[in-house]
Amino acid sequence: MTNKDLKEPCCALRKEFESNNITVYESDNFFVMPTLGSMGIEGYLLICSKEHFIGVGGMPEKYHRELEEVLDLTRRVVSETYKSDVVVFEHGPRVGCFRGGGCLDHTHLHIMPVAFNLMEPVALRFLNALSIKDYYKIERISGFGKISDIFEKQQSSYLFVEMPDRKRYTTEVNFALPSQYLRQVIAHGLGKKDSWNWKENPDYETIQKTLDRLKGKF
Ligand SMILES: [Zn+2]
Ligand SMILES: [Zn+2]
Repeated sequence: MTNKDLKEPCCALRKEFESNNITVYESDNFFVMPTLGSMGIEGYLLICSKEHFIGVGGMPEKYHRELEEVLDLTRRVVSETYKSDVVVFEHGPRVGCFRGGGCLDHTHLHIMPVAFNLMEPVALRFLNALSIKDYYKIERISGFGKISDIFEKQQSSYLFVEMPDRKRYTTEVNFALPSQYLRQVIAHGLGKKDSWNWKENPDYETIQKTLDRLKGKF
């Protein structure tokens, strides 16, 4: 299956972009908006591709530089506005029967203003909870090239995490992870246990606060 096959119909993110006026920033190929499931975290944004690709890994590499630029800007605006560390992540898309922490299969980075060491609980969970046939590999990476490589082989999916100190990690997995896995880990770590599922807990109040605060900041 290729991106082309998946182009129509596109998923909820593109519809959000077209129908609701909640975009805080837009470049040629990306837009930035508050996430629906903010979990009470003001300034929690998504960077989404305008065209439908099923994840950063499924996006042609010619877009990587623009995504880095949009990420730099978004990270800076969020960090300065909320005087906070910023964590960035993506749940990789479904690849065959593997799910990289299943969220929406459309390229989107989560930008979250929290001081949270996301890789530590992730690594611990993998160490403690996996069966012998489950394969995973945590690697330090730079850029997004490694994610494309993982996705291209169609043998596994991935989690992508950029920590507050900008160190980037990919966790390659050959088994299906729970839905919105990294959001679950963060919700658990921040004591917001029941709020991780954006489908069940849309947080319009926080979205509005984020929009009010970030208007004109980009
Ligand atoms: Zn889509
Ligand atoms: Zn997601």
